[in-house]
Amino acid sequence: MTLRSRYTLFTVFWLIFILLLYNIFVYFFVIRVTTRGEEQIIANKVDLVLDTLRKNKLADIDDPKLLSDLYNANEMLRVVTKDMTVVNTVGIDKDLMSITPVVSNVSRSETVHIGGQRALFLSKPIYQNDVLIGVVEGARRLTVLDSYLQILLVALSVTSIGAIVFAIFGTYWFTSRLTGPIAQMVQTMREIDRSGVLHRLKMGREESVELQQLIRAFNQMIERIDRNIETQKQFVADASHELKTPLTVIGSYADMLKRWGRDNAEVRDEAVEAIAQETERLKRLTRSMLTLAEAEQDNWLQRSRFDVSAVVKELAAVLGKTFQRDIRVHAPSSTVSMYGDKDKIRQLLQILIDNAIKYSKEPIDVRIRLAKNSVKIEVTDYGIGVPESEIPFMFERFYRVDEARHRSTGGSGLGLSIAKKIVDLHEGSVEVFSKPGNGTTVSIQFPRNLQYG
Ligand code: ATP
Ligand code: MG
Repeated sequence: MTLRSRYTLFTVFWLIFILLLYNIFVYFFVIRVTTRGEEQIIANKVDLVLDTLRKNKLADIDDPKLLSDLYNANEMLRVVTKDMTVVNTVGIDKDLMSITPVVSNVSRSETVHIGGQRALFLSKPIYQNDVLIGVVEGARRLTVLDSYLQILLVALSVTSIGAIVFAIFGTYWFTSRLTGPIAQMVQTMREIDRSGVLHRLKMGREESVELQQLIRAFNQMIERIDRNIETQKQFVADASHELKTPLTVIGSYADMLKRWGRDNAEVRDEAVEAIAQETERLKRLTRSMLTLAEAEQDNWLQRSRFDVSAVVKELAAVLGKTFQRDIRVHAPSSTVSMYGDKDKIRQLLQILIDNAIKYSKEPIDVRIRLAKNSVKIEVTDYGIGVPESEIPFMFERFYRVDEARHRSTGGSGLGLSIAKKIVDLHEGSVEVFSKPGNGTTVSIQFPRNLQYG
C-alpha cells in the first residue's frame, strides 16, 4: 500500500471516528436539554392543578375551568380519582386521551411513543390529610421538538459528509505533494543503479525540513562514495605505478642474466643482487598495501590495556641494535598504561622511528609524556627535515617529499599513511614539527581511555 493511500485512509478513518463521537454527543445533548425544558412545562402545569386543588380543598376537582385555563393544543390534562374514574379532563388529541390512567402514590414521569412519535407523560398523586385521593395526569406531544431534531440530524450528516469529502481530497492532494519528491528520489536512485553514474538529488524550494535533510544526507553519501571511488582509482593507479618500477628493473636484469649471465660472473652477481633488492622492495610494498587494506576492516584493532613505555623501550632497543643507531628513550619512571591495540601501536612507532633512522644520521630521541587523560609520544630526529609546505601531504599514500631522496632510502611512501590510520583508529591526533636541515619531530597524542580495560 502506498504511503499516500495509507495516509489518506488513516486520516479519513480517524476523522470519521471523531465526527461520529462528536455527532452522537451533540445529538443526545440537544435531546436532553430540550426534553428537560418540555418536561418543566408540563410539570409546572400539573403542579399548578395540584396547588389549586389543595387551596380549595378539592372543591373544584371536577370543575372544567380547573384544567382548561392551563391547556394547550398539543397537551392533555386530567384528574383521575382512586377508583380509576376520570373526573375531569381536557384535550383534543385522541392518542393522548387514550393513555390508560394509572393511580399510584408516587410521581411518575416518562417518555412514551404514540404512533411513532414521542410524548411526555407525567402523573402526580393528590393527597388530602395524607390519604391518597387520586392523581393529576398530564401529557405533552414532542412533535415540534422532534422535527427540530430531524433538522439537526440532517445538518450534522451533511456537514460530516462534507468534511469527510474535503478530508479525502485534501489529504490526497497533500500527500501527493509530500510523496512527489520521494518518487523523484526513487527515480534518481534507480537511474544511479542502472547507469552506475552517481547523480546528486535536486532540492526543491518548498520541500519539508525532513525531506531536505533526507536529500542532503543522500547527496552527502553520494559525494562520499564519489570521493571514495576517486581515492580508490588513484590508489590503484599509484599502486600500479609503484609496482611497475621494481618489476621493470627485475625484468631487465633477468634479460641481462639470460644473455650474458652464463659467461660473465660480474654481470651475474650484479643482476642477482639487484633482483634480490627489488624483490625485497616489492615485498615491503605489498606488505604495506595489504596492511592498508586490512585497516579498512571493522575489527582490525585488538584492544587491551598495556604499558606504552615498555613497548617503546623494547622497540628502541631492537631497532637501535639492528640499524646500529643511538635511540634514546625518555619516559616517566612509572608505567604508562593505555587502552589500545599493542601490536598496532608498536607498528606505528616502528614507522616513525624507521623514518627518523632513514632521514637522519644523528642519535634519535623518543619522549613519552603523560597527561591526566592522554599520552603523548614524540619521535625527534636531527636530520634533513621537511619543508613546511610539504608537511600536510606527508600522510598521503605514496607521497614522498623528494623523489630523488627515496631512490637511496627506498621508501614506498606508505609508512605515514598507515601510521595516520592507526592514530585515527585510536582517536588520537598527530602533529609534525620540522625544519629542513635541523630535523623533525613527529608528535602523537592518544586518549588513555582509562575507563576501559
Ligand atoms: P615507507 O615508510 O613506506 O618505507 P617512506 O618513508 O618514504 O616509505 P613515509 O614514511 O610515508 O614514506 O613518509 C613520507 C615522506 O615523508 C617520506 O618519503 C619523507 O620524504 C618524508 N619524511 C617522513 N619522515 C621524515 C623524517 N623524519 N625526516 C624527514 N622526512 C621525512
Ligand atoms: Mg617511512
